[in-house]
Amino acid sequence: MIIDDRLIELLKTFSKQGPRYTSYPTAPMFSSDYNDKRFEVDLIRNNHNNPGPVSLYLHIPFCDSLCYFCGCTTIITNNREKIRTYLDALKREILLTSAYVERQRQVTQMHWGGGTPSYLDPSEIRDLMDVLRRRFNFAPDAEISVEIDPRGLTFDHMKAFREGGVNRVSLGIQDFDTDVQRAVNRVQSEQLTLDAMRWAKELGIDSVNFDLIYGLPLQTTGSFQHTLHRVVAMRPNRIAAFSFAYVPWMKKQQNLLNAKDMPAADAKLQLLKATIDTLTGAGYEYIGMDHFAVPEDELSVAMREKRLHRNFQGYSTRAGADLFAFGMSSISHFGDVYAQNYKELPEYLAAVDARQFPTAVGYKMTRDDQVRKFVIMRLMCDLEVDKEEVEDLFGINFDQYFDMSRVQMFDYIRHGLVADSPSKIVVSDSGRLLVRNIAMCYDAYLNRFKSEENVFSKTV
Ligand code: SF4
Repeated sequence: MIIDDRLIELLKTFSKQGPRYTSYPTAPMFSSDYNDKRFEVDLIRNNHNNPGPVSLYLHIPFCDSLCYFCGCTTIITNNREKIRTYLDALKREILLTSAYVERQRQVTQMHWGGGTPSYLDPSEIRDLMDVLRRRFNFAPDAEISVEIDPRGLTFDHMKAFREGGVNRVSLGIQDFDTDVQRAVNRVQSEQLTLDAMRWAKELGIDSVNFDLIYGLPLQTTGSFQHTLHRVVAMRPNRIAAFSFAYVPWMKKQQNLLNAKDMPAADAKLQLLKATIDTLTGAGYEYIGMDHFAVPEDELSVAMREKRLHRNFQGYSTRAGADLFAFGMSSISHFGDVYAQNYKELPEYLAAVDARQFPTAVGYKMTRDDQVRKFVIMRLMCDLEVDKEEVEDLFGINFDQYFDMSRVQMFDYIRHGLVADSPSKIVVSDSGRLLVRNIAMCYDAYLNRFKSEENVFSKTV
C-alpha cells in the first residue's frame, strides 16, 4: 500500500466518528429493556437441540496501576480480598450459565480479557480454569488466548495459563519509548517483554501477539519507528497496531493525559504510515483494519482464503460459535441476541448474589440487522462483498435493498476508495484505511446519534 500525500489528504477529509464494528448493531444500541429474564429465555431457546460450538470470554477487570490511555472496564486495586470476592462471583456466574448449555456442545475458542488476567495469582488462574473445564466440554484443539501485562508476570503465571490450555498470548506493549511510557503512566522495559515471550515459547505457546498503539502523547514518527524496529526484531507472530481512541469525554482517565502532547491529525497519519510501511516492509501481512501477521500465521492464511471473522476481540479465524461471556461488562452473543453484563462491580455482585444473570442491557437482532451485519463484517474482514452471495443467503436484491448505501458511498467511489460493480463491492488498497467509513454506509442506525453526542471514536 502506498500512503502518499493525496491519500493523506483524503484520510483527513473523510475522518469522522464511527464504530469499529466488533459487533453490529453496535453497543450504543443495546437497551435495558433486555434483562436477565429475557436472557434466560433466550439461553434456553438457543441451547435446545443445539450441538453447535461454543466460545467463552472471561473478564478480569483488575490492574495494578492505571494506564492513562486505557479504554477498558478496569478496577485499579491491590486489595486481594476484593479480587477474591469477584472471582467467587465469576465462578457462580459460570455455574449458573453452564447449567443451561448442552454438555455435548464443544468449546472451540476461549479468551481471557481485562483488565489484566495475569494480575491474578497463579493459583487463582488454575482454579478458574478448573471450574471452566468441569462445566464445559473443551475441544482438544480449542484456541485459548489470554491478554498479558508483562509487568508483574512470572514464569509461574505463564505456566498456570499453559496448564489451563492457553495456546495464544497477547502481550500489551503500546510503545517502547520511555518518554511516551512515562506520559501514559505505563513504564515497561523491553526485557520484561522478552522474558514473557521466552517463557511462552519454553512452555510450548507458539503464538505470541504484541499490542501497539499509535497516536499516544509524545510519539513522533522517529520514536515510534524505533519501537517498530525493536518489535520486528523480536518477531512476534501477530501485531495489533491500534489507533489511539482519544475520547476523554467517555473515558475519564484520559483527562490525565496532557492534551498538548497529543500528536496532531497530520502527525498521527504519519505514525500510521510508518506502522504500515515498517511492518509490511518486514514481511508482515496487513490484516483487515489494524492487524499484522507473519505470512504463515493462521490469520494471514484465513485472510487469503477469505475466512476471517470479526468479534469483540478483533479478527479471528474461528466462526459460528455462540459466545457466552462472564464477568463485569462482558458481552454474550448467540443466535440473534447480544447481552451485556453490568459494568459496575456492586451491581454485578448484587445480581450474582441474588442468583440472577447479571444482564444489564441487550439487543435482539432483526432480519435487517442480520443482512447488514453480514455485509459489514465481510467488508471489515475481506474488504469486499459478493452481492450474489448476500442475495442467495437472504433472498434480497442487493442493489435495491441497499439503494441508500450506494448514494452514501458516492464520494468514496468518486475518489477510488471503493468500487461498486454489478457483482461486487470492492474496497481498494487505499480505501482499506477508510473501511470503517465505507461500512458505515450499510449501518441503519447511525442517524440516531448526533455527532455532538460523541458516541464513537474517529475512524482514522
Ligand atoms: S491498559 Fe491494560 S493494564 Fe493498563 S489500565 Fe488498561 S487494562 Fe489495565
